[in-house]
Parts: sequence; C-alpha cells; structure tokens
Amino acid sequence: AILLAVVTALAGRIWCGFFCFQTVWTDIYAWIEDKLEGAPQKRRKLDKASWNVNKIRIKLTKHLLWLVIGFLTGISFVAWFVDAFQLWADLMSFTLGSTAIISIALFTVGTYVLAGFLREQTCFWLCPYARIQAVMIDNTTVVPTYDFHRGEPRGRVKKGVSEEERTTGDCVDCSQCIAVCPTGVDIRHGQQEGCIMCALCIDACDSVMKKLGRPTGLIRYESLDALNGKENRPLLKRPRVWVYSIIMTAALLGIGYGMSTLDALEIKVIHSRQPLFVLQSDGSIQNKYTLKILNKMTGDIPAKISISGIDGAILVDADLVTTARHGKVTPRTVFVRVPKKLLKQETTPIIFHVEGQLGEELLKAQRESIFIGPRY
Ligand code: SF4
Ligand code: SF4
Repeated sequence: AILLAVVTALAGRIWCGFFCFQTVWTDIYAWIEDKLEGAPQKRRKLDKASWNVNKIRIKLTKHLLWLVIGFLTGISFVAWFVDAFQLWADLMSFTLGSTAIISIALFTVGTYVLAGFLREQTCFWLCPYARIQAVMIDNTTVVPTYDFHRGEPRGRVKKGVSEEERTTGDCVDCSQCIAVCPTGVDIRHGQQEGCIMCALCIDACDSVMKKLGRPTGLIRYESLDALNGKENRPLLKRPRVWVYSIIMTAALLGIGYGMSTLDALEIKVIHSRQPLFVLQSDGSIQNKYTLKILNKMTGDIPAKISISGIDGAILVDADLVTTARHGKVTPRTVFVRVPKKLLKQETTPIIFHVEGQLGEELLKAQRESIFIGPRY
C-alpha cells in the first residue's frame, strides 16, 4: 500500500493502468472480443442481431476462450501453493483434491465474471486501491488529460468548411475516447475517479487527429497546472513525494530488519484447558501443553525441549528428543509437574525452550506460557 502511495505521488495511477491484474485480464478479454466481434459499434450490432449460426459460433468461441483463460488463471494460482508438475499430473489423471478443484473453479468463474462482465464496476465498486489512489492525485500529478483549451467548443466536421474557416475546437465529438475507455469515462469532463490511466483514450484520439490532419495530443499526459499555464513544481519540491518516500523507506527498513532477524526455529505453546491442572497422587500439580515446533530450515532437526521459570518444575520425559521436520510444524504433547508446596499463586509464568543442532549451527527458540495450579 505504501509503495502504491509513492508510485502514485511520483507518476499517477500507473498501477491501475499498467500493472493491475484486473486491467491486464480485462485488456486480454477485450482484445479477444475485439478480434472476434469487431469494434464497439459492430459489437452492438451483433448483440441486437437475431441468433444465427454465425452469431452462435462467434459468441461460443469468445466465451470458451474467456473460460479457458479463467481456468488457466485458477491453475496458476493453485500452482503457487503446491507442486506445479504434480498439480498438472493430478489434473490429467482426474485425481485433483477437493480444495484444488474448488480454488480453480472459484478463480475460473471469478476471472470470467470480473474481466468479462464487471470490468469498470470492479474498478468503481470493488477495488479499494482505486479509492486510495484517487485521493493521492492533485493538480500537479501528470495524468491523461483532455486539453479543453484546444478542444472546445467541440463540434463535428462539417462538409465544405475548411480548417481555416471552422469556428469549433479540435474535438470533433466522435466519442472514440469514450468507446475505448475500459471504465466508460468521458475524459473531456476532467479527471475522474474512474480513470485508471490506461491511456487508451490518448491513442484513440491521436488516431482521429491524424486522420483529420490535426496535431495529436488533444488528450495527453499532462498535469492540470501545466494545462492552465502554471509551472509544474519539480518532483523533489513536492512535500507529498517526500512524506510518502520517508514512510516507505522506514517500512522497507522495518521489513528488512524483521526478515534478517527471523528465527529458523519457532515454538508455540498451547496450554490444555480440559482440565486446567491435575493433582497427582504424589501431591504434585500437573499441567498439559501442546508444543508446536516450526522448523524453517531445509533439514530435520533433533530438538531438545526444556523449561525454566519455576523452581522444582519437572518436564516429564525431558530426555526425549523430538524430530522437528524441515519446512513443517511438528506437534508434541508434554507434561509439567510442580510440587504443590512450591506454588505460591494460581498462575505462574513458565518458559519453554527448544534447542537443536543442524550441522554446525545451533538453533534455539523459546516461548513463555503459564503454569496453572489450585486457587490460594
Ligand atoms: S476522441 Fe478526441 S476528438 Fe473524439 S471525442 Fe474524444 S477528445 Fe474529441
Ligand atoms: S479516461 Fe482514458 S486513461 Fe482514463 S481509463 Fe479511460 S481510456 Fe484509460
């Protein structure tokens, strides 16, 4: 989110226009639609036409291709979490697990619906980033902008009126910029929340201008200040850029520090609730715990468990070594006993230690929990 803030402050909503998966998938879906059904006017004509073999063929091909892309998206997503070769092997032999089937089905339908039918609605109503990014834009941000000084008053090309005689601006009100816009924005009404900065309107308008022999750039990358003749403040003189950059640098340093100090061995302690404690025949109090040992290394570690914090506390089977499996969480149930006379309160802090050796490296982790006894 902070990176998005910095990028938006520096270069506007380039995330939305060029990197967002919704934009990329919508572009692919729209490209297929365009190739099969033609330009928007032709598409509308096809939609209104009665059903015949040709219309069924075109529509069927389009929706099949959309579904295939959705399906491949689902497969790619699931392959992030499992062995990709095994996934394809399971798929081909129809032995996919239910989790993979449900995930692929959800992604197939999700991609098909979002990129095929809810294109601009996703940007307008579903995407939180669209709202975050929109408020980061101001008059100095360079975004696709309609040059209203040049374009207005807009008017269609009239036969018999030469370029020198015309009293209208450069905009010929052809609506091409609206037709190509994936979010249906009319950029001539100024910067809007729905504009995802894809620049398709710039290309569309430029090609209209070229056909008419007028200069391109009626819609272009420009800040509102520059359009109004004001000098654009250099990037480094904008407080917004500095504030966001400082926050991002601090966040990156924090992440870097966190990553570099990550423990290779971790332990979690869950105190058993049923029962909280058991009075033993020898008069000692026993508590039961489930330890979860996470080994982030690439090899198994023989882990030794010990306790501290309570004088006289005994870890039952303390000499047992648990093999902490690599890349996995290994559970282990342990019992701690404390002679009742040594307990001074209902709950006493206790620390669990886990220690193991992998090659030359000694790995350690610890976690505090509580030992529960009877009320005093
Ligand atoms: S594409 Fe250009 S000329 Fe056509 S309506 Fe849009 S701004 Fe005007
Ligand atoms: S207004 Fe232009 S830049 Fe903005 S989303 Fe529409 S086509 Fe893309």
